[in-house]
Amino acid sequence: MGKTPTSKRRNALVALGGQGSAKAVGEVWLVGAGPGDPELLTLKALKALQRADVVVHDGLVSDAILDLAPDTARRLSVAKRKSRHSYAQDEINRLLVAFARDGLTVVRLKGGDPFIFGRGGEELEACRAAGVTCHIVPGVTAALAAGAAAGAPLTHRGAAQAVTFVTGHAAVGGEPDLDWPSLARANQTVVIYMGVSTAAPIAARLIAAGRAGSTPALIVEDASLPTERRIVTTLAGLSDAAAAVTGPALLIVGEAMALAQAYPSPSRGGARGGGFVETDTALAGSPAIAETAPHPQPLPSRGRGATGASR
Ligand code: SAH
Repeated sequence: MGKTPTSKRRNALVALGGQGSAKAVGEVWLVGAGPGDPELLTLKALKALQRADVVVHDGLVSDAILDLAPDTARRLSVAKRKSRHSYAQDEINRLLVAFARDGLTVVRLKGGDPFIFGRGGEELEACRAAGVTCHIVPGVTAALAAGAAAGAPLTHRGAAQAVTFVTGHAAVGGEPDLDWPSLARANQTVVIYMGVSTAAPIAARLIAAGRAGSTPALIVEDASLPTERRIVTTLAGLSDAAAAVTGPALLIVGEAMALAQAYPSPSRGGARGGGFVETDTALAGSPAIAETAPHPQPLPSRGRGATGASR
């Protein structure tokens, strides 16, 4: 597998005009890269990457995963940053179609799953409208990696009959526009993507709608990466706990989060300059926070094809 250092790769500037393994008509592969750990890629995602002429990727996709594409494949980052979009969505849509029309096999690589808060649907629609074949390869969405890492099931007999994924992204000019009475019902897990900066209003609205402030909550930052951090708290403590977070993170609220294990351990301080936050009161002394789990290690190599995370 190509292990060319990032700096030596052919860079993001892409010339259209029949280079690469040009076919009469190319196609687009909309591929979920998973939460970050290369070992959480699907085999189908790996195979698609290995066939790519051009990889159009998000900022959340790590170099360790991009390195799995052939050295000859062009990489184009279309990373979006808050209030500084390097590419607008319709520009990305047009790029994908243009590359495919140029005969290229285009891998559109997205963090997690392309259809979970990934705007994959818009890219699929653009391909369909242009008559370009678009294949979808699902990926492990961040919520699944976060629950797995913390040892906290997203559904759990007697504690979580349902799980709901919501976006914490503020509606224009304000707070997230969510169905609070529905999310405030007990015995369900609510996973909030993009909610770190709106943790305070989200927690306040859930409590105002009737969800107990003592409901267990978990924040997982950099799920599945070596920098992963897990904060065990309660709904009432969510906002304070979120203030310590700097990387991509999920907020997870629900009774089943009582099983979550913090990492690093509160007793060892934070991995980032003592930044660990422990705000739980309802669960103090419970096994859920008395124990800590080590960060999951890459599987041992059997002599070929190991892809250790290197970020
Ligand atoms: N399509 C992606 C989500 C993209 S929205 C997926 O299926 O996972 C971006 C948000 O996803 C981030 O703001 C964060 O809330 C979450 N996220 C993505 N990767 C993450 C990770 N490794 N750890 C924790 N949260 C993550």
